[in-house]
Formats: sequence, C-alpha cells, structure tokens
Amino acid sequence: MKYLSTRGGMPPKTFTEILLGGLATDGGLTIPEVYPTLSTDELAAMRSMNYRELAFEVLRRFADDIPAADLKTIIDKTYTAEVFGSDDITPVKTLEPGVHLLGLSYGPTLAFKDVAMQLLGNLFEYVLAKENAELNILGATSGDTGSAAEYAMRGKKGVRVFMLSPKGKMSPFQTAQMFSLQDPNIFNIAAEGVFDDCQDIVKAVSNDLDFKAKHKIGAVNSINWARVTAQVVYYFKAYFALTENNDEKVSFSVPSGNFGNVCAGHIARQMGLPIHKLIVATNENDVLDEFFRTGVYRPRPQTEHTSSPSMDISKASNFERFVYDLVGRDPKILKDLWQQVETGGSFDLSKTPYFAKVKDFGFESGSSSHQNRLETIRKVYQQYQTMIDTHTADGVKVGLEHREAGIPMVCLETALPAKFDETIFEALGRHAERPAGLENLEKLPQRFEVMPVDAAVVKQFIVAHS
Ligand SMILES: *Cc1c(COP(=O)(O)O)cnc(C)c1O
Repeated sequence: MKYLSTRGGMPPKTFTEILLGGLATDGGLTIPEVYPTLSTDELAAMRSMNYRELAFEVLRRFADDIPAADLKTIIDKTYTAEVFGSDDITPVKTLEPGVHLLGLSYGPTLAFKDVAMQLLGNLFEYVLAKENAELNILGATSGDTGSAAEYAMRGKKGVRVFMLSPKGKMSPFQTAQMFSLQDPNIFNIAAEGVFDDCQDIVKAVSNDLDFKAKHKIGAVNSINWARVTAQVVYYFKAYFALTENNDEKVSFSVPSGNFGNVCAGHIARQMGLPIHKLIVATNENDVLDEFFRTGVYRPRPQTEHTSSPSMDISKASNFERFVYDLVGRDPKILKDLWQQVETGGSFDLSKTPYFAKVKDFGFESGSSSHQNRLETIRKVYQQYQTMIDTHTADGVKVGLEHREAGIPMVCLETALPAKFDETIFEALGRHAERPAGLENLEKLPQRFEVMPVDAAVVKQFIVAHS
C-alpha cells in the first residue's frame, strides 16, 4: 500500500513513513492510493472474529510494510479487556429494537479517541525502536485529545509528550486527568492564555523547521492517518454484532468535529462493509451539516463554545480526505477548492456532479443545539435508563431523525457522561457516575508547568527536557 497526498505533490510513501508525520510534504493530507476492498468470502470470514482479529484484518491491509507477526503483537497488546474494560472493546448496547449505542469510550480517558490513540502509542514505540529514533510530541489541547495522547504515550520508550493547555480553562476533571500523570516522559504545560494561544505556540514551533528537525518535533493530531484507520475497525465490529448475514445493512450516526470518526466509516463502506447511511451529526458549529445539506462549504471565522466542546470546530481537518474522494480523487480540483478555503473563502459544489456523490457515499447530516442535547439526555435516561454524554446526545438526536424502517441505527457513543457532568446535572438534576477508580481523581497530586504565551519559552523547556 502506497500513500499519496490529496494535493498531489508528495512522492508515494509507505505506512511507516507517514506514521510519525502530520501533513503531507505539500500541505495536503495523506491518503492511500486505493482503498483495499474485501471479497464476499473475506467479509463472511470476518463475521466470527473478535475485536483483535478484526483489527488485524483491517490494519494489515493499510500497514502492509509492518511484518504481520509484529502488527499482530502490537494489536494484541493494545486491545485488551484490561485497557478497555471488556473483551468486546467497543460493546454495542441496544436502546430499543433498531436503535443502538456503540460504546467507544471505555478506554483510560473515557472518550473514543483512546481507541485509536492507544494503538498509536504502541505503533510509535515499535517504529521508533526499530529506527533507533526519538520523538518529541508537541500538542495543544482543550481537553479530550491531550489526555488521550498522554495516556497512550505514557511510559513509551523514545517518546516524550509536551502538551499545552489553557491554564484554568479545562474542566477540573479534564485537568486532573492530565495533570495527575507522573510519568517522566509526560510534560503538561499550562499556558497563561486561551486554547488558540496554545495552538499558535505549536504552530510557531512547528514552523521553525530547523528547530523541528533538530529536536524531532512531531504531532498526534486528528489528521494522523493511523488514527483514522484504527477507527475503521469498530464499524466492522458493530455491523457484525447487529446483523445475521452480510446482505443486511446498518446505518451509523456520528457526532462529528474534525471529521476523523465519520471518515473512518466512509473508508469502511468503501472497503465493502454494507453500511447504508453515514449520518454526520454536528452541534451549533454546523459547517459540515451545512455542506451535506447544501453543497456549500463555508468555514466560519468564529467557533462557538458549546456544551459538546470536543465538537467545537469550524474547520474540520479530515474533511479534505472525503472531498478528495468526492471530486474523483483529482488533486488539481482538490487543490483549487482548498486554495479558496485557505484564503478565507468557501466553495460551492451544489451545481457540480460531485455533490451527487454525497448520496452515493451514503452521507446525510443534521445538527443539534444545547436545548436538543438536554432533551435527548433526558429522553434517553427516562426511556432507556441510560445516561449519555453531551456529544453522544448530538449523535442520538440526529440519528433518530434519520431512522429508516428495517435498518438498525447505530449511534456512536463518543464519551462517557462523567466527563461532562455539569451538563448532565443541568439535564437530569443528578450527577453522572464515575467509573471505578476515578472517584478521587481531582485529589491526586498534579504535575505541570505554568508558562507565558511565548514560543521561545516553550522551546527552551523542550530543549532542557529532551
Ligand atoms: C473528538 C471528539 C468528537 C469528534 O470526533 P471527530 O473525529 O473530530 O469528528 C466527538 N465526540 C467526542 C467526545 C470527542 O472527543
């Protein structure tokens, strides 16, 4: 399997070659030259597989430059009941016949990003050891991504994590989750600013190409291709859990921000998994919903702060991968479209043949508001005695609107309610239960450095600690 750039300017690379990188060398996103497809027999054989076996079947097609035995070891070490709470890894819960939750948040940080990030941690360690190399991961977080990255990379040889977060702006739970890590390879930096300041520092450091090369600066953001492929696996898992044979179809509703999760669903469908619809659910930041309804992609200058904060995104970084497929995988067309977006503009595909492909790819969409979220949390709690978090509520709200008779609707549960307890309390007048072992999280000793919003200070810190 070779990987190309959506913008056509990168020589073909292997999985291992793109694993540690971020953007492609020409500023585009990395994408396989062709999606692997599964024959009817191969798909039939996968039906009886457990999560680890499924993961191997999916990933070996994308990571074919890693020896099969090594890949298997990495997968078996990653997807364990010990880390994910059960051998199902991503259990399916039925709310009522035809409506289901796919539980993706049973990893260490209680959000779906663990599913991919835990694999990434082990892949990084493996590749770095082979190349006798080291990596300093620099990131900015407002919550979920940073903690998932830290819990995936803690204690890993050859990897250090420098994670910037806005001082005092994360929830006490999120703060404690990150800052209580005592591993010597994890560095929490509380910047005296807002999230955008943190992101600007990361950009400034990454744009210093000499510094970046000399100090082996890397990233683990949501455009990382390995993260997307790891997420393909649970679409297979859910499909087989809910069907009896491969003639049946299933739809998925996906709470979306950076479009990584639903992009994985698109890839599963392209590989031949019988997915009926992929429903993109957004919150008030509804750039993606607008596109799927109208064909107009119009990133907003401002991002609204909502009660499903991990979806507060106005420029979905993985969307470029999907549009590349929409425009017939033509890098020239793609490049033109993104030129318009990157100069602050928008594009309109509504009058092009490409927009019709949205339907062929099974995509539909909807959005949700704070009020919708509260109502959905209440409704699911009252009707099904199940507490769902605010992001999952966005997915359930939009998923129910797109239900079709005879086709199971699977709503992806992207976080546990304990992570967003404030809104749970607002909706239900009671608190979300904490998973065992996390009751006293906020009381644990915390380890972090406070720094001004100054890239030079952050650089100095990285040099001193690597
Ligand atoms: C990251 C995140 C999302 C959005 O996923 P994307 O892959 O960015 O679309 C949704 N819900 C939760 C809880 C998240 O952490």
